[in-house]
Amino acid sequence: MNILNKFNFFLIVLFLSSILNIHSQEQKYPGSFTIEKNERPPNIIFMIGDGMGLSQITAGTISNKNTSSLEEMQYIGLQKTHSFNQLVTDSAASGTAMACGEKTYNGVVGINSKNKQLESILEYCKSKNFTTALIATSSIVHATPASFYANVNSRRQYEDIALQLRYHSVDYFIGGGRKHFNRREDKRDLIAEMETEGYKIVNNIDNYDGYKNKKLGFFTYADEPPPINTGRKPSLEVLVNSTLDKLKSDDKPFFLMVEASQIDWGGHANDLPYIISEFKDFNKAISNALDFAKLNGNTLIVVTADHETGGLAIKKGNLKKNSVIGDFTTIGHSGTMVPVFSYGSKSEIFTGIYENTAIFNKLKIAVNK
Ligand SMILES: [Zn+2]
Repeated sequence: MNILNKFNFFLIVLFLSSILNIHSQEQKYPGSFTIEKNERPPNIIFMIGDGMGLSQITAGTISNKNTSSLEEMQYIGLQKTHSFNQLVTDSAASGTAMACGEKTYNGVVGINSKNKQLESILEYCKSKNFTTALIATSSIVHATPASFYANVNSRRQYEDIALQLRYHSVDYFIGGGRKHFNRREDKRDLIAEMETEGYKIVNNIDNYDGYKNKKLGFFTYADEPPPINTGRKPSLEVLVNSTLDKLKSDDKPFFLMVEASQIDWGGHANDLPYIISEFKDFNKAISNALDFAKLNGNTLIVVTADHETGGLAIKKGNLKKNSVIGDFTTIGHSGTMVPVFSYGSKSEIFTGIYENTAIFNKLKIAVNK
């Protein structure tokens, strides 16, 4: 080794030892998230406003002093919502497309057009050692949340879907529909069965907050929860905050799906105040998710819809009075594209115009960043 080579060798050793030294120093402080940022996959908060097209967002924004938390998102894209064989999708086919990455027939959950059962992004994250959680303002067996854990030929098979949740390993879940678990045709009490296998199932937010079980379910209502403007409690903001507190305390990345289910129901009812109140409820939950991402780092937030509902147009309004008048063209869904908003880790990959199935692939890319 000549002198020059010896000097280079010395520099390399110095460089390597400085890296190792930094590494060992960082390990002494596991609370610092610079090390986590580099070594663990991001947390994923996937938020779906069912039936939330651009007009619903516009109406909700105007009513909310012409602002919304979506304005803080870093990237925006558009997704095409059609199902396998219909231009206008339903929530089962679009939920399956986003959750599992394949187009299917309307009404089908977690099974593709060739009758193959699909793995969802939640299940994929689970296989990567993520903690998983589902929150919906409908029953937990409704088509959108079901797309993340169930495989059934018809979204109406609520008791089968409940049975699949009972055998699933979702760590935390919140939604209505308790009756599908404990007032069943087969007389089984799935809640009791789950509790014998380590789950704690609760019926109010205080117990949800209080129990420290790593498997926890909260049934907000026996049936479908009511609209927020007729008294649904707790708000989505509270549900998301409580769940993020739990997820944060786990030393693992997490996948959380949040659905504002009833923006869609307001659309079916052609009821603009219903849509607006549900949007505002969702808006606060998004705001809290953003706060979480800003504070904790290494988090991806994606907010989108499964389709638009009502064919809503904004006809008139008054910005000073925060008032808006809309008109609907259908009591069903429409075939318009819906926006995708993203923030945080890997959020840039959600720009552009793409099929709803691409959401699954993009989330997978984010998991493996
Ligand atoms: Zn609908």
